[in-house]
Amino acid sequence: MVQYIGSHDVAALLEKRGIGDFIRQLCDYLRADFRRWEDFEKSARLASHSAAGVIELMPTSDGTLYAFKYVNGHPVNTEAGKLTVTAFGVLADVATGYPLLISEMTILTALRTAATSAMAAKALARPESRRMALIGAGAQAEFQALAFEAELGITEISLHDPDPGAAGKVLRNLARVSALKVEVAPSVEAACTGADIITTATAAKRRQAVLSGGHIRPGMHINAIGGDCPGKTEIAADVLQAAKVFVEFPPQTRIEGDIQQMPADFPVTELWRVIAGKAPGRQTANDITLFDSVGFAIEDFSTLRLVRDLLGKDARELDLVPSLDNPKNLFGALMKEAAE
Ligand code: NAD
Repeated sequence: MVQYIGSHDVAALLEKRGIGDFIRQLCDYLRADFRRWEDFEKSARLASHSAAGVIELMPTSDGTLYAFKYVNGHPVNTEAGKLTVTAFGVLADVATGYPLLISEMTILTALRTAATSAMAAKALARPESRRMALIGAGAQAEFQALAFEAELGITEISLHDPDPGAAGKVLRNLARVSALKVEVAPSVEAACTGADIITTATAAKRRQAVLSGGHIRPGMHINAIGGDCPGKTEIAADVLQAAKVFVEFPPQTRIEGDIQQMPADFPVTELWRVIAGKAPGRQTANDITLFDSVGFAIEDFSTLRLVRDLLGKDARELDLVPSLDNPKNLFGALMKEAAE
């Protein structure tokens, strides 16, 4: 039998443990896997583009476990009452090739993206950072805010979204579960004024310049998660030029990230090298650091590993693989099933 974790199971787990605790634990799992980055099989994800969005497959393996995620990105979906991003993932045993676990990953993707952002910021932002501008109040927004509260000790959020309904939703949701002081700002500029960290989490299937040079100040850390697909960016080139840029897997980020607008040899540092102590992150208090996040398969691997450790023994089971008395008699097992 294959273990099954649905969105209800993830919600119950978060209710039991608390989102902040779960995110801190996920940051630890991510750090452990980023430190052994070289042990993993890595490839840029396989993308199938359409006019409305993209569907992607994201595989990786450490030689013992194999994982893949199916994920989409359709910014137009919200107009039809659907999510921009949905996902599910599988964890499998390399020795036998058997799937071990199939899990919802729509909620888990929001959590892993937020935890990866917070892990990056903990390594790159000024340690005294307490105020974050959050540009984009969609499905990812609360997860980002809570991860920065849990992992960095952020206490204030200035939020901007052209959709007042989205901003109001974030205000109400965060008031229920956190001590964050949240204010809604009338513009990107107003949101960024006085911020230590800027998170951009906007969705539009086009090249946007949501954040430009006039919004940034020395010492800021920028966590850019919304530019994650060819032709879909949110950071202006002058911000990228002013910053030290950190990425997950360069062959993927150069196609999908905000740096897709820059020359192919634009200098970047792989985040895992900073986490593993092999490359410097921020070098002075005045550096501007930028994490050009697109989401990488190893982050989903770490997340599936954590939910399996936390839920595996209590997980429901699915008959995804037939169980046979004689592994050569698949047909006989089919006949037996049909007769029962
Ligand atoms: P969503 O559609 O739910 O919300 C996006 C929000 O951005 C909307 O409220 C919209 O009004 C707002 N927005 C659009 N243009 C804006 C602008 N110019 N200024 C301010 N706000 C603006 O999307 P989501 O699920 O919250 O995802 C946000 C982005 O993050 C998407 O682009 C998604 O593809 C990306 N994403 C990245 C990762 C990653 O690993 N890097 C993971 C998940 C999602």
